[in-house]
Amino acid sequence: MSKQLFQVSSQHDRSVKDMVNSALDDLGGLHHIIPSGRRVLIKPNLVIAKTNDTGATTNPEVVEVLIQEALKTNPVEIALGESSTAGDNTMRAFRVTGMDKIAQKYGVKIIDFKKTPTITKDVPLGKEIKNVKIFKPVFEYDYFINVPILKIHGETTVTIGMKNLKGCIHDQEKHRFHRLDLHQCIVDLNTVIKPDLTVLDATTCSLQWELGGDPVKLDTIMIGKNVLAVDMIAASLLGYGIDEVRHLKIASQSGIGPESIEEIKVFNPPDNETKKMLIDASQKKGPEYKLRDLNVIEKGTCSSCKGALVAAMRRLSREGYSPNCVAAMGQLLAEEKENLEQAKNNGIPIVGVGHCGSKVVQDYSVENIKGCPARAEQVYGILKKL
Ligand code: SF4
Repeated sequence: MSKQLFQVSSQHDRSVKDMVNSALDDLGGLHHIIPSGRRVLIKPNLVIAKTNDTGATTNPEVVEVLIQEALKTNPVEIALGESSTAGDNTMRAFRVTGMDKIAQKYGVKIIDFKKTPTITKDVPLGKEIKNVKIFKPVFEYDYFINVPILKIHGETTVTIGMKNLKGCIHDQEKHRFHRLDLHQCIVDLNTVIKPDLTVLDATTCSLQWELGGDPVKLDTIMIGKNVLAVDMIAASLLGYGIDEVRHLKIASQSGIGPESIEEIKVFNPPDNETKKMLIDASQKKGPEYKLRDLNVIEKGTCSSCKGALVAAMRRLSREGYSPNCVAAMGQLLAEEKENLEQAKNNGIPIVGVGHCGSKVVQDYSVENIKGCPARAEQVYGILKKL
């Protein structure tokens, strides 16, 4: 058996405070983990302005407990930093989740990364990207606590700690990652941003897709110093082997963490009953494009455009509409030429969704919903008319 070089503490079914404290104790105690006198940056997942009970965003209580613990280490400063998904408003997400009030209560600074300058960082070990624009505050703090929420993701299978670092890059870079090999981009990014601590919030999770809805209560917190180790253990609890999540597989071969799960010592692993519950919850199918007559042709679509279309379709479905058309979207839509041609030749109306998708089909589409990202309200309005 290989040597266990990495440690992850997994805590379940108690108050958030108890779970965080027990996990920190397992890993050597707060003062061993967060040295005193640091400038501490806490990065939750606020991908979208939705409350934690939807499963889309980090539980504010986890963030509050981390602030309370970090304050015991006499930090020079603590800040909360994030940038929501491309086109979304980060400050709104801080407000909607209640994290703005928590920050105010403890005198913690809030940083909307989108309003800060970026630094172009070389990615010497990058296989897909050779440089990347990262928000400057990421490098201005000397202790980085990554606080993802556990979610299933339409494109990357799971989104945990490694993927959460996408919130540290400029919107243009988020788009670029979706045009490239997204899994490899995530690994490349993790070779230049290395969180000191990853605190996985798995209290209420979205195990259908990344933008919330159908939340599942798992009452679990996992903490580890190595982000890949936390991701590997969390993915395994959802029933995913390392080989089934490409960015974890690539990362395991890139030297940024464990090569295999056997190298990780797990404190307090969940019992079989919890494991079964987690696996069952994660195996349910994610949201589908469910309208009977509407066909979606897409490639390289960002979560925000997908989210807009799914939200519009759910509303249309509730109201009994099922427009007979094709919704075409994504940055790599041009690669779906054959499918688009077929729809065109069959006389099916094509609607371009989002700026990039609309550009590809603009010569023959019946409607184009511009915007980057497209807005759900607009998609709904146009599809309803058809
Ligand atoms: S229009 Fe949508 S899919 Fe295209 S780049 Fe913008 S957010 Fe991404």
